[in-house]
Amino acid sequence: MKLKSIIALFLFQLGFSQEKTCGTDLYMQKMQNDPIAKQKYLDLQSRFEIELLKLQNPQNKSAKNTNATIIIPVAVHFPSVATNSPDKACLRQLAQNQIDIINADFNATNSDIALWTPNASAFYPGTNVGILNVQFVLATKNHPAGTGLSNGQVAVTFGSNYLANSNYDTQWSNYLNFVVRNLGGSTVGLSPIGGNPSAGGAVYITNFTFGSGSGCSGYQPTPGYNLGRTLSHELGHFFNLYHTFGNDQCNDQNTDYVNDTPQCRGFGGCALAGEILGCISGEKSLTVNYMDYTQDACMYMFTAGQVTRIRAYYNTIASQFATNVLSEQDFEFKDFSLYPNPNNGSFKISFRPETNEEIEIIVYDISGRNIYNKTFQNSESFDQNIQLEKVQTGVYLICIKNGENKTVKRIVVE
Ligand SMILES: [Zn+2]
Repeated sequence: MKLKSIIALFLFQLGFSQEKTCGTDLYMQKMQNDPIAKQKYLDLQSRFEIELLKLQNPQNKSAKNTNATIIIPVAVHFPSVATNSPDKACLRQLAQNQIDIINADFNATNSDIALWTPNASAFYPGTNVGILNVQFVLATKNHPAGTGLSNGQVAVTFGSNYLANSNYDTQWSNYLNFVVRNLGGSTVGLSPIGGNPSAGGAVYITNFTFGSGSGCSGYQPTPGYNLGRTLSHELGHFFNLYHTFGNDQCNDQNTDYVNDTPQCRGFGGCALAGEILGCISGEKSLTVNYMDYTQDACMYMFTAGQVTRIRAYYNTIASQFATNVLSEQDFEFKDFSLYPNPNNGSFKISFRPETNEEIEIIVYDISGRNIYNKTFQNSESFDQNIQLEKVQTGVYLICIKNGENKTVKRIVVE
């Protein structure tokens, strides 16, 4: 390759990786021209404001439980993938990988949250990490009629005409829908601000920003957007968050309606906490926030103020989500025992597996961090010593999986 071509390619790639367009602002502008959609939006917003006031006023007993775990049924759609494609298994895995990422990001259990050190947070007085306490789960039963999915299969569809000509697909009403397809140009994703599950609304992700790792044929995450954070950002919009830089950059105050995000300009590169100036003298731009335009590797947190807004929007639409579409979350294995408990980090688990599939033991600390993960071959009777390395005293959760069956136990390390 000639040097000129190499330079051109390099500049193209540099430009490509720095350019990011979220389609949400354009989507919202267009929605203003649709009177029915606009009215639905305004209705939800007025109900949201009531829920937000309840959460912001802790004396108000009518606020829904602010600590309860939110469980949201998810369906993922690949309209451009043929129903007989050999890539379906890979894409189902990619869908689960993407869901694992949003679960980590919305619960602040992502490993890079460790970058929010006292030195980093010192640039942002009054700003704290927000933790939603949510589980996004692929639906696995009672799928909508006509989808061809049976109980036990995950709600991942291929080749459907999902949203080809419309912003809604009522077949998938009452799910959180992610539609993965080529959105054209540099648009990485888009979502309405304030989504509407009962109308069959969706979050859209383009085919080069979905999930992480090497991806699947035609769906390879591209450098800059290869950690699945585009969906964390777009899902923020779905739960009624604006860009931290709002519409008017530095010309208008508090354009994202969140008090703990400094007023800033949009930033499309990659910066450390405190590197980019905010709009107000002495303030820094919170470029590490998911609602900035920062690249995936350089964003790692929602703020507490944003999460209050997300929870208020969830409370607004909670009744819209389908129930009875997820597998049983808890399962009692036969002849189960875990002892001793309390222990010093060394204990024994035994039970009789229900299926021939392998057995996975995962241990989480109380903040949700995965500290142990091991898969065992199946045998007629499971009987294993588990040794947690360098474990501190405290409460831990042990998740035991055998195929579809799963149970969670609590231990105390003394
Ligand atoms: Zn956006």
